[in-house]
Amino acid sequence: MITDVDLKHLRRCVELAETALNKGDEPFGSVLVSADGEVLAEDHNHVAGGDHTQHPEFALARWAAQNLTPEERSRATVYTSGEHCPMCAAAHGWVGLGRIVYASSSEQLAEWLEELGVVPSRVRNLSIQEVIRDTLVDGPVHELAEQVRELHRRLHSASGK
Ligand SMILES: [Zn+2]
Repeated sequence: MITDVDLKHLRRCVELAETALNKGDEPFGSVLVSADGEVLAEDHNHVAGGDHTQHPEFALARWAAQNLTPEERSRATVYTSGEHCPMCAAAHGWVGLGRIVYASSSEQLAEWLEELGVVPSRVRNLSIQEVIRDTLVDGPVHELAEQVRELHRRLHSASGK
């Protein structure tokens, strides 16, 4: 179930995704929130430099591993504008983070990119549940997913693909 608090954090993720897009990165943003509701860390996609592992969910998983106890990690929530890719879902699972809430799903992204004529990536499009056995996952949120879709449309029309 998605609460008003969840929506607040998801809106921040979409803002971060737009920031990334404006910097020449891909439009993805994520926020790590403690069990007490404190925003612990946030990041956006940083692939413009050529390293396509620079995803925000991966960065937050590493931040959590370095800064939180296993107990704190298990009770923390990761909010994200787009569902974790398999790499980030695995990182989330390996470091023992808790719930995931996403604004738009990987399935939606794949549909949008197909509509935009973008060639699929080499990495398969798996849902989080296909990668992690036991994580609570909520999403997508229709209204915010439409905003994320618009960011991807801007990305691919700007690059002329
Ligand atoms: Zn990823």
